[in-house]
Amino acid sequence: MALHGSLNTDSKQTLAPVVSLARGVEAPDTLRLTTALQTTLDLEQLLRIFSETAQETIPHQGLTYRNDENRFVVAVGHTGRHHCSYRLNLLGTELGEVALSRSRRFSEQDLAQVEYLLCALVYPLRNALHYREAVNAAHRDPLTGISNRAALEQHLTRETALARRHHTPLSLIVIDIDWFKKVNDRHGHAVGDTVLRSVAQVIQKGLREGDLLFRYGGEEFVILLNNTAQDGAVQVAERIRAAVAATPCHCEGRDIGVTVSLGIATLAEENGSALFDRADHALYQAKNQGRNRVMHAE
Ligand code: GH3
Ligand code: MG
Ligand code: MG
Repeated sequence: MALHGSLNTDSKQTLAPVVSLARGVEAPDTLRLTTALQTTLDLEQLLRIFSETAQETIPHQGLTYRNDENRFVVAVGHTGRHHCSYRLNLLGTELGEVALSRSRRFSEQDLAQVEYLLCALVYPLRNALHYREAVNAAHRDPLTGISNRAALEQHLTRETALARRHHTPLSLIVIDIDWFKKVNDRHGHAVGDTVLRSVAQVIQKGLREGDLLFRYGGEEFVILLNNTAQDGAVQVAERIRAAVAATPCHCEGRDIGVTVSLGIATLAEENGSALFDRADHALYQAKNQGRNRVMHAE
C-alpha cells in the first residue's frame, strides 16, 4: 500500500510545524530529532540520522529520498511492503520526496506523526541541499563541465582506500594534449578553449560508467579506473589515444586535429600521490618517445 502526501512549510514567521495532529494523537518529542539533525550538512548522513531518530516514534525498515530535479536518490535501510511518501516544499521551493517503508501498514495516527517529524527535517534538508550544490560547484571545471583537481584529490584518497580494502586493482591515467601551445599560438586562445572542450568530450565518450574523469590542469586530464588492472587500463588508454587522433575539432570553419600522450600506473604498495607520480613519469616518457602514445609505468 502506498500513501502519498505533500508538506508545504510556507509559514515565513515560524519554524513550528504547520501540521496539526488528530485528537488523541500524541505529538512526538522532536527536540532530540531537531538537535540531532543540526549536527551535519551531509545529505546522506542527515537522512540516516532522521531515519534512526524517527525509529523511536515510527518504527520503519527503510527511508528513500528522491530528488527528481537533480536526479539522485538516497536510500537508507531496506524497502518494506507498505510505504508513505511526502513531497517536501519550503517557501515554494521543491525539496524532493521522502518515503518511509515497512512491512506493517501505516495508520492515520502514524501518518500524522510522520508529518510532524518531517517538519523538523525540512530546514536541515534545505541546508544540506545547498551545501551539496556548493560542493558540486567547487568540484566542477567551468570550461569543460567535468570534475576538477579538487574533486580528483578527494576521489583519489577514497578510491585507493577502497581498492586496498576490497583487494581490487586501481589504475590511473594522466593525459596531456601534445603541442597544445601551438594550437593557441596559431588559432588563438578561444579556439584553444573549444579544442579543450572537444577533447574532454571525446575522452568521456570512451569511458564506462564508473570511470572517473577530471581536468587536472590546463591541458591535462586524469582518469581513475577502479577495478581495472594494467591490461584493461592500457586498452582504455589506447582507445582514447586513437579516438582523439581521429576526431578533429570543428571550430570557426576549420578542422583542428590534436593528439594526446598518456601515462598509466596501476596501484601498488603506495598512496594515491605516489600512484599519480608514477603515471606522470610514464607520461613524460611517452612525450620523450615522440608523443601520441601510451606508456605504462614499470
Ligand atoms: P607538450 O606536447 O610537451 O605537452 O607541449 P604543450 O605545448 O602542450 O605543452 P606546454 O605545457 O608547453 O603548453 C601547454 C599549453 O596549454 C600552454 C597554455 O597556454 C595552454 N593552456 C593551459 N590552459 C589552457 C586553457 O584553459 N585554455 C587554453 N586555450 N589554453 C590553455
Ligand atoms: Mg601539460
Ligand atoms: Mg601538452
